[in-house]
Amino acid sequence: MEKIRMITPLVEMDGDEMTRILWQKIKDKLILPYVDLKTEYYDLGLKHRDETDDQVTVDSANATLKYGVAVKCATITPNAQRVEEYNLKQMWKSPNGTIRAILDGTVFRAPVLVKGVSPSVRTWQAPITIARHAYGDVYKNTELRVPGAGKAEIVFTAEDGTETRQTIMNFTGAGVIQGQHNTDKSIASFAHSCFQYALSVKQDLWFSTKDTISKTYDHRFKDIFAELYETQYKAAFEAAGIEYFYTLIDDAVARVIRSKGGFIWALKNYDGDVMSDMIATAFGSLAMMTSVLVSPNGQYEYEAAHGTVTRHYYRYLKGEETSTNPVATIFAWTGALRKRGELDGLADLCAFADKLEKATIATIESGKMTKDLVALYEGEAEGLNSDAFLDAIAANL
Ligand code: NAP
Ligand code: MG
Repeated sequence: MEKIRMITPLVEMDGDEMTRILWQKIKDKLILPYVDLKTEYYDLGLKHRDETDDQVTVDSANATLKYGVAVKCATITPNAQRVEEYNLKQMWKSPNGTIRAILDGTVFRAPVLVKGVSPSVRTWQAPITIARHAYGDVYKNTELRVPGAGKAEIVFTAEDGTETRQTIMNFTGAGVIQGQHNTDKSIASFAHSCFQYALSVKQDLWFSTKDTISKTYDHRFKDIFAELYETQYKAAFEAAGIEYFYTLIDDAVARVIRSKGGFIWALKNYDGDVMSDMIATAFGSLAMMTSVLVSPNGQYEYEAAHGTVTRHYYRYLKGEETSTNPVATIFAWTGALRKRGELDGLADLCAFADKLEKATIATIESGKMTKDLVALYEGEAEGLNSDAFLDAIAANL
């Protein structure tokens, strides 16, 4: 069989532990036999990040800016224990944080649905994708414990020295105060990423905040989204047959629960943090959650939402077989291959990505799955180790 041709390389970011093992197996068993795979390889494994003083992470992000599409394996974010375990020069920052800062992107998370693993919400038939604004608000706040009676004010001093001052509260006793901020620039980047991604997957985009209560702060988010939509995206949305709408977060929550799924829900930082955990849990399993970082200019970095599955890796090192679920990592590859195919006009590369996803889902729906899914599956299920599961997918493919 002739292999499927590629034109532009994918940026391949290798990673750590159990997911690094799966990474190679996925390539060997499911991709390399069919695709004449072109990648520009960056080893983001912790050892190599340390050897390069983390330059490799920066280089891989810059390569993503250059080529437009990356696929990333899960990576260790070092803590004190990892510094010792890997004898690190220093406690390197989270690669995902570094890459996100360079791409200025937003993370979109969506579950992979299979028949037999039902969402907790009966009406949901298609994935709900959460887009969380990953800058500012309560995550970059300044807080103060108020010891007793006194006046709390909020003050802005412009560069020319002009002061704007408002009273927060005339305290008659002890309490707390908090200062938050966001920037028009960051909100606009978030909005661009959301509009770009909605167009890319042809799904409706919902955005919700609490603008009825936060008439200046949350309202600014609403206005920036509305202005960019009207001036830059409306025509493309109409042409794609998709919709953008804004609604109060209370209304959005009610609508989400009653919905069939199949849309993108954009949320401010805190709302996205909380709601993504709720949506992920209600859909089933972390091992089935995919993730893509989208830059405001339309660069894409695909990955699994889970980590490096350390506990399984330590068992693997002892020579034990593990049943680690490769689905989210497979879908990171298919997402990246499909996007590359779209950008380069390679219909057979897109078709291959579709077929690999179908084969993966069909394998689970035939009752063959990794052990984490067996408990969730309604029906006869055979719990396989990772190798046997990948072989079953390859046979279906
Ligand atoms: P984790 O790797 O997501 O694993 C937590 C637990 O969830 C596992 O022990 C396993 O449970 C289950 N699990 C997760 N993915 C699974 C899969 N594919 N198949 C089967 N079970 C799965 O989270 P962690 O243990 O907190 O973090 C490990 C390392 O990953 C850390 O060094 C962290 O920094 C890193 N991390 C990286 C990313 C990223 O690169 N995007 C994200 C999160 C964490 P059982 O052991 O009960 O089977
Ligand atoms: Mg959280």
